[in-house]
Amino acid sequence: MPEGAATQTETVYVTEDVVACDGGEGPLGHPRVFLHLLNDEAVCPYCSRRFVRKPGVTRLESEH
Ligand SMILES: [Zn+2]
Repeated sequence: MPEGAATQTETVYVTEDVVACDGGEGPLGHPRVFLHLLNDEAVCPYCSRRFVRKPGVTRLESEH
């Protein structure tokens, strides 16, 4: 990991309304938290990871 990349954020594409984040292994690891996507986006307060709803994936609803 290069030095000086302090504000590096990772964007994770998800298909769920709620995602769990534990930061993974290493220095960014943290207790598991559940994040609710608001406006198709959520940011983990621990590791600043950004969760975005995967484009093109729509919820399966009965439109018939
Ligand atoms: Zn996190």
